[in-house]
Amino acid sequence: MRYEQMDASSIASAVTRGEVSAVEAVSASLDRIGSLEPRLNALITVMEERALERAAYVDGQVASGCDPGPLAGVPVVVKDNMCTRGVRTTCGSRILGDWEPPYDAAVVELFEKAGAVIVGKSNMDEFAMGSSTEHSYFGPASNPRDISRVPGGSSGGSAASAAAGYVPIALGSDTGGSIRQPAAFCGVHGLKPTYGMVSRWGLVAFASSLDQIGPFGRSVGDIALAMDVISSHDPRDSTCSRRERPSFRDGASSPAVKGMRIGIVREFLEGPLDPSLKRSIEGTASVLVSSGCAMVEVSLEESASFGLPCYYIIAPAEASSNLARFDGVRYGFREEAPDLVSQFTRTRSSGFGEEVKRRILTGTFVLSSGYYDAYYLTALKVRKRICEEFDRAFRSVDVILMPVAPSLPFRKGDLLDDPISMYMSDVFTLPVNLAGLPGMTVFTGLEPSGLPTSVQLVAPRWQDRRLIECAAVIEERFGCPPVAEGGAL
Ligand code: GLN
Repeated sequence: MRYEQMDASSIASAVTRGEVSAVEAVSASLDRIGSLEPRLNALITVMEERALERAAYVDGQVASGCDPGPLAGVPVVVKDNMCTRGVRTTCGSRILGDWEPPYDAAVVELFEKAGAVIVGKSNMDEFAMGSSTEHSYFGPASNPRDISRVPGGSSGGSAASAAAGYVPIALGSDTGGSIRQPAAFCGVHGLKPTYGMVSRWGLVAFASSLDQIGPFGRSVGDIALAMDVISSHDPRDSTCSRRERPSFRDGASSPAVKGMRIGIVREFLEGPLDPSLKRSIEGTASVLVSSGCAMVEVSLEESASFGLPCYYIIAPAEASSNLARFDGVRYGFREEAPDLVSQFTRTRSSGFGEEVKRRILTGTFVLSSGYYDAYYLTALKVRKRICEEFDRAFRSVDVILMPVAPSLPFRKGDLLDDPISMYMSDVFTLPVNLAGLPGMTVFTGLEPSGLPTSVQLVAPRWQDRRLIECAAVIEERFGCPPVAEGGAL
C-alpha cells in the first residue's frame, strides 16, 4: 500500500514489527510533502532534520527491543501555535518572527513519547483568528480537494496535511470551530474534545476559556488513537481535568450506539444551509436509525440566535488580553524606535495583521469601563444561557446531530473583504465552544464536484467517547475519507 493511504495504526504496527523503519515512513512523508507543498502551502515549517533524527531514535528503540509506543514512527503535523523546542513557532504571524520556544507543548511531548515523529508545523490564520487560513503572514493555504478553494480555518494547514496524505494524524486547536470547520472543508474527520480534556500547556493562547486541542485524521480509529495519546491530566494547565479518560480506541472498535437518542436541531436546518449538507444530515440520521438509534427533535434557539455575537465579544476580549504580551520586548519581531511607547506601537502596528488588530480593538473596547457591563458582562450572561440550553437538550438526547458549517468550501478571496460573512462560517460550531462541549466533524462523502460533505456530532461534557462511537458507525456506512491528490484548478 502507498504510504499516503496508510493509517496511523498500520504504520505503527509495521514499524514495531520491524517491517518498515521509522526513517522510511518519515522519508515517505517528506517526499509527499515535497511533491504537493508547492501547491498547498499547508506547512509553515518542515522539520526535516529533527524528524529524521527522531525517526532514527524510534528505529533504535525497535532494534533494542524497547516498546516504541502506540504511534511508533508515525509522521504527524502540529499546528504552528503549539510550541516546539528550538523550532520556530509563528502562530502564522509576523510578530513572532523566528521565535524559537525553549520548551515543547504538552501534546508535543505526549506525541513524541508515544513514538510519533513531527514532520512539520502547519499553516494557520494568524493567532487562530479566521476561517479560511487566508489570514496567514506566510500566505494562504489551499484546499487539497480543489486548490482554488480555501481549506477552512484556522487549522487549515493541519486539515489539508491529513487530507493530502502528508500524515495520517495532525493536531489543530479549536476556539470557535477551527478543527471542525477545516475538517469539513478538507474532507477528513476532526474532533474538538471537551474543554479540559487535553492539556494546553505550550499552546499559544487565543481565548483561554474556549481554546482546546484536538486531532484530525482519515479514520475514526486514528482519531481515537490520537485521543488516547493526548488526553491526560497535566498539572501545568490548571483547566486540565483530573478525571479518568475512557479508552477511545475501544469506543471506535466496538461502538455501542443501540438505543442512543440523537437530537436533530430544528433551527439549524431551517437557516441558510447548502442542500448537500442538509442531505448529509438526513442520510446520517437514517444510518443511525438503522443502527438502533432514535431521532428526537431539539431546539437550540438561543444558541442559534446569540451564539455568534456572544462569541465575538468574549473571544476578542480574551484575545486582547492574551496578545498584550507581544510587544517586541520578549518575543520575535521588534520595530526599533527612540522610546519604549513608540517601540510598542510600531512593533504591534506592523507585526499584527488586519484581522488580529480588528479583534484586539473590539476586545479592548468591550472591556473598557463604561462598555464592560453593556457588552462583556451581557455576553457572559448569554453564554450561561447557551450552556443551560444545551444541558436542557441533553436531558432528552445523548448526542446532537447538526451541520458543521453552512456552506461547502468557498473560493479563495471570496469572503476576505467581508468579515461578517467569514464569521458566519462558524455559526454552528461556536456555541459548542461556549458551552465547553465535545464536537466532532465526521466525513460523509464527496459530491460529484469532488467537494466533501460532513456532519457535526455534539455530546455532553466528558462524553467524547460517544462521538467516536457514533462516528465509527457513520464511517462504516460512508467509508473513510479518501486521500486528496492535490486538487484540480
Ligand atoms: N473562526 C473563528 C474565529 O475566527 C474560530 C477560530 C478558532 O476556532 N480558532 O474566531
